[in-house]
Amino acid sequence: MKVLNPATEDVVAEVGMADAAEVDRVVERARTAFASWRSVAPGERARLLRRFAQVVEDHAEELAQLEIAGAGHTIGNARWEAGNVRDVLNFYAGAPERDHGRQIPVAGGVDITFQEPLGVVGVIVPWNFPMVIMTWGVAPALAAGNTVVVKPAEWTPLTALRLAELALEAGIPEGVLQVVPGEGEVAGARLVEHPDVRKIVFTGSTEVGKLIAAQAAAQVKRVTLELGGKSANIVFADSDLDRAAASAPMAVFDNSGQDCCARSRILVERSVYDDFLARLTRAVRDVKVGDPLDPATQMGPLISAEHHARVTSFVGAVDVHTAGSCPDGPGFWFAPTVLAAPAGFDPLAEGSGAFHRAFTEEIFGPVVSVVPFDDEAHAVQIANHTAYGLSGSIWTRDVGRALRVARAVEAGNLSVNSHSSVRYWTPFGGFKQSGLGRELGPDALAAFTETKNVFISTE
Ligand code: NAD
Repeated sequence: MKVLNPATEDVVAEVGMADAAEVDRVVERARTAFASWRSVAPGERARLLRRFAQVVEDHAEELAQLEIAGAGHTIGNARWEAGNVRDVLNFYAGAPERDHGRQIPVAGGVDITFQEPLGVVGVIVPWNFPMVIMTWGVAPALAAGNTVVVKPAEWTPLTALRLAELALEAGIPEGVLQVVPGEGEVAGARLVEHPDVRKIVFTGSTEVGKLIAAQAAAQVKRVTLELGGKSANIVFADSDLDRAAASAPMAVFDNSGQDCCARSRILVERSVYDDFLARLTRAVRDVKVGDPLDPATQMGPLISAEHHARVTSFVGAVDVHTAGSCPDGPGFWFAPTVLAAPAGFDPLAEGSGAFHRAFTEEIFGPVVSVVPFDDEAHAVQIANHTAYGLSGSIWTRDVGRALRVARAVEAGNLSVNSHSSVRYWTPFGGFKQSGLGRELGPDALAAFTETKNVFISTE
């Protein structure tokens, strides 16, 4: 597979693609390595993970440059991502020493629980945040004593391969963390069906997530699913409109909109709708799109020509309210684009028009749809009128309303007067068809262990 630089279309690398037999060999190595990795003393496992974090820190700029070349990320984002990989490894490095079981009072003996590792874990990664999403699965899985096989996305294997080398350099034993580049339907599917893979962590489209959940069910294989989104950014009339409008563009255009948490539906209270749209329009025209290596750049290219064609298919038939600017080719450039609801559009009605499609489907590109609402209840109804439920933002100065709406919106990660969704200390994941289970924070560890209960008779 040729890996292209999305900003230049130059070939950056060629990577071999694993077939099912290669996946089987890799899983066998992981199964063998599990026997010794699970019994590495907790303090030693912690030390190795901290050392891995340090090696990542030492190579942070190299990893960032690889993500820029292979995935088109802006330099600001790519450096943040390398730092996130280090931080997540450090965060879970504390876990082996703190993963206590419990002693539960019972009659006739002593009852204790153990948190046992699962065995071999498969982590299947999408192309939008390759090294970060890989690490969200890898770090807690390794900390809990599992061994891991990562299947990166076809278009973006480079940082995953490098991270596996850095793990070895840090002293993590052979076979504990392996990466198999390959096609989803071949290498990914084999990981899902392999009986020795005890859990799949899948991040990607809802369509493939459903398929994986169904296949995993046949073996009662554990799954964590992080899937698509169509998150709402709800702006009330009493909010700080300057801040709300200034921040709204990057809440959807960050990473060129290729972000599962993108606030791609902006819902604005009707009394300030025109005012907000005017401010948003000015802010979007200021978004700096271009050379990912320029620190002033806010938005880079889309990942590929195929994805560019898909994003284009959403805007072709709609009246575009505003489009920012972007470079001409080479590179898969797409201008930040605002679509405004046509007169009389009912966001709660079934529809088939071009705006309806853009407003309801996950575009995964720099396109945002703006719609007015009448009151708080209407805003919540619109926000929840979707099969997804990943993130969302609420802009208001009324703290009671902020909490009421945050509790009423069916989504896993909400922010008030902010668009922040990801903090490695806190749980991350989706309601409804946005996923199953949680990553990050303390919750993720439980997803990589089984609770074992042991009773010892004292009679
Ligand atoms: P995708 O579903 O096409 O592919 C994701 C991964 O699954 C790739 O590695 C692919 O090779 C593999 N795959 C494909 N078919 C497979 C199969 N049959 N069996 C096993 N593996 C298979 O998704 P994508 O286009 O790479 O990523 C974009 C999607 O990911 C968007 O929908 C986005 O919202 C979602 N996403 C979700 C989150 C989250 O945390 N919720 C984060 C990032 C991306």
